[in-house]
Amino acid sequence: MIASASVVEKLIPNLAQFAGNDLVVTSPRDGAVLATLRLDTAAEVDAKIAASVVAFRAWRDIPAPRRGELIRQLGDKLRAHKEDLAQLVTLECGKILEEGRGEVQEMIDICDFAVGLSRQLYGLTIQSERPNHVMQENWLPLGPVGIISAFNFPVAVWSWNSALALVCGDSCLWKPSEKTPLTALAVQNMLDEVCKDFPEAPANLSQVILGTYEQGNQMVEDARVPLISATGSSRMGRIVGPKVAARFGRTLLELGGNNAMIITPSADLAIAIPSILFGSVGTAGQRCTSTRRVLVHRSLFDQVFETLKKAYAQIGESKIGDPLSASTLVGPLIDKLAFDAMQAKLAEVRGEALEVFGGQRVQEDRGADAYYVHPALVKLPHQVEAVKEETFAPLTYVIPYDSLEEALEIHNDVPQGLSSAVMTTDVRDAEFFKRYSDCGIANVNIGTSGAEIGGAFGGEKETGGGRESGSDSWRAYMRRQTSTTYFGHERPALAQGITFDV
Ligand code: NAD
Repeated sequence: MIASASVVEKLIPNLAQFAGNDLVVTSPRDGAVLATLRLDTAAEVDAKIAASVVAFRAWRDIPAPRRGELIRQLGDKLRAHKEDLAQLVTLECGKILEEGRGEVQEMIDICDFAVGLSRQLYGLTIQSERPNHVMQENWLPLGPVGIISAFNFPVAVWSWNSALALVCGDSCLWKPSEKTPLTALAVQNMLDEVCKDFPEAPANLSQVILGTYEQGNQMVEDARVPLISATGSSRMGRIVGPKVAARFGRTLLELGGNNAMIITPSADLAIAIPSILFGSVGTAGQRCTSTRRVLVHRSLFDQVFETLKKAYAQIGESKIGDPLSASTLVGPLIDKLAFDAMQAKLAEVRGEALEVFGGQRVQEDRGADAYYVHPALVKLPHQVEAVKEETFAPLTYVIPYDSLEEALEIHNDVPQGLSSAVMTTDVRDAEFFKRYSDCGIANVNIGTSGAEIGGAFGGEKETGGGRESGSDSWRAYMRRQTSTTYFGHERPALAQGITFDV
């Protein structure tokens, strides 16, 4: 299958409307220029936020199941364009086509989930201590939701947020990564098409803001946006979180990870090794849930490292390359910055490592601006400080431990707390791990990456504490109201038996 810039024209026929000289969008596949865009000015961002408030006021009054119908139609639109959108995802962010398809499937899945949810935004009835009183907990639409997304899941993260926010009665503003604005424009076009034939959908229900951190920051500082859902680095979250808190807004932060898999003595290595491989080298190590650390019981330490080395060698140059080719397993890094960060980290840990395997640039003529690397394995005698920072590249540390208690100590001794996994056939080890892993995700006998939409997704500590997608994550997009109604005929009693007779 040959994808080309034609998929850009197909999915964004109105691209000329966004043309300008502020932002050059290139493909990590070969460095080719895909588009040059104009970014929103401060006045335009302001106008979009104002329009989002107007849209919210209309949309919140549409019954939730009808709002769900809009998302059902969006899901159908995504199904119809799945292959094209997957190609655009691959072109723009460099993940292999199979994973591009997976990303669009995730959008479809969350639409299905949100449609069901649109009839299940349940509140509570609460027993009152007073006669003839009824207490309720109601969930009401919140307002415009500001979505800031990262380059590595350029469209799925938007859908996790907006499919739920829209059924909850909110309007949406989306500031995509400056590295992946085209996929955002393509998805916005699909939603616009659905809204065009949906009489209750107000104008500007969901809008894209084209920009860098500056336009993102404008949204972050604007009190008309009650919720900022920001996905990206912990560095970004450290800036965004306090700014939104300072204006008493809400944040939903989905930030960096430093995910580990623990290999216990009872692990089934036939299951563990492929899981490490997908977690470490899949998406060229550019998932927030990528496996960064493999903690191996000392009895298996050398064996696991040697087996991994063999598997990495098998990936070889033939499986590193064009992300559009069906035989490729490892696509490019997003850009030179990512390549330099990986090389810098390798240089930093080399002195402390027992062995370093891979990590070098693939010498292939794909243009000076494309960065393909051999995934790197670093064998360490123990966890070192350099490991505690997330390096967003296929760089995995293999570290020994002697007891499961020690493994959990090492595991939790990083600032991030997103995803974790244990490989074991011992139920006691599995339960011990689940109890003491400090991460938002704790898997048994599957890897750290590749979450389903049905569960709440997110992590603790510097990962930001947010939860998106499944379970009861929808509550983040609504405001909670406690309501007490008196239906008696006498003067109502006061709570706590207080008398106040005048
Ligand atoms: P990034 O932090 O560089 O950028 C993410 C987004 O934040 C972009 O849209 C960017 O323009 C915006 N931004 C940056 N600084 C900002 C500021 N001060 N104010 C407002 N907006 C700002 O991240 P990236 O390189 O695009 O993505 C990789 C990072 O994202 C990794 O750390 C990865 O772990 C993380 N990530 C986390 C999750 C998750 O769900 N936890 C998912 C995907 C990616």
